[in-house]
Amino acid sequence: MKITEKELNTIHACRYCPMCRHACPSEFINYKESDTPRGRAMLLYSVYKGGKPFEESTIDAIYNCFLCGACKSWCEGQEIGGYDIPELIKFARRDIVEQGLAPQSVANIRNALLAYDNTFGIDKSLSYTASIQEKQANILYLLGEGVNYKHPEIARAFTQVLDSCGEEYTLLKDEPTSGKELDLLGYREEAKDKAGRLLKRIRATGCMTVVVSDPLLYDALRNDYPAWGTSFEGEVLHVSEYLLRLLQSGALRLKPNPGKVTLADSEFLGRLNKIYEAPREVIASVPGVEVVEMQWHHEYMQSAGEAAFTFDDRVFDRGKDLGEKISIKAEEAQADMIVVLSATAKQHISATTTLNVLDIAEFAYQNIDKKG
Ligand code: SF4
Ligand code: SF4
Repeated sequence: MKITEKELNTIHACRYCPMCRHACPSEFINYKESDTPRGRAMLLYSVYKGGKPFEESTIDAIYNCFLCGACKSWCEGQEIGGYDIPELIKFARRDIVEQGLAPQSVANIRNALLAYDNTFGIDKSLSYTASIQEKQANILYLLGEGVNYKHPEIARAFTQVLDSCGEEYTLLKDEPTSGKELDLLGYREEAKDKAGRLLKRIRATGCMTVVVSDPLLYDALRNDYPAWGTSFEGEVLHVSEYLLRLLQSGALRLKPNPGKVTLADSEFLGRLNKIYEAPREVIASVPGVEVVEMQWHHEYMQSAGEAAFTFDDRVFDRGKDLGEKISIKAEEAQADMIVVLSATAKQHISATTTLNVLDIAEFAYQNIDKKG
């Protein structure tokens, strides 16, 4: 693919710059120079300026990126137009796919998404939404694959909150993939096709408010679909935003539960969509709760690996390495509990701490004032 001016600017700026490498989570997994923002820019310079073909090690470095955006958060260059490593990586992945060079591990995930609508290759009959009945309602709750296939307790908690508030809502039976994961892996045309299918299902419900658990799905609906010319006409809210709305309207009341709670910010909700305060306000709505911040929070959060799919041509299995960094900071902050905003964060962080780790929906459900 012909390199764009914007991507070339990023390559030129980043190939000699070390100023964000300390924040790059992929680097501290293997401590390899090629797994830093600068390392990736140098490798892509050799491809797009040097005319070298994509070598296997270059392809690995491109797919080892978690697209977390930490490099952007730490980049002074954002103020002068912006150097965008995640967009550069996504461009390079599309080029790798177009040249037929995608690693087998990536192709396997693509095939799983096309066949099963999830990256895990789990049969749809085992998903949470396989057994639900669609209803007429104003609100559509979308789970995303992590909740739908791995952490259904998050969906149970949120639907119980909605029930307790008397909200009318529906889920999508056999909720399809959004296409987001396909796009992040470099398969944009297949992603657009999946986006079109999901939108058709959403529109068929007649719901004009869509509430989403998964940060990747939220980002797809808010940013990717409009960029692809397939916007949803209604409003899209994250679960934390909807919980806040319920609290502000008085429909949801939370009972006292003293303790120190910290929030693990979400890469795709925070860095890409600026959702930082809604979950904090929800947490602070529990009387007696003190919200404590970890050393790295808001845009300088540590990555939970929301878009970490493969690493060194294997399915990504180093989530504990990422989760442990967050757990340590939560313990240093003397938190009693860590609230998370994605199934991925819950899985990666809870594996490395004895602290209670709850999704924001579970946190709200646990603290409902049933007498309220
Ligand atoms: S993103 Fe910014 S800080 Fe990071 S390598 Fe590029 S120019 Fe340097
Ligand atoms: S997006 Fe994240 S993993 Fe990728 S280069 Fe930037 S900081 Fe590293």
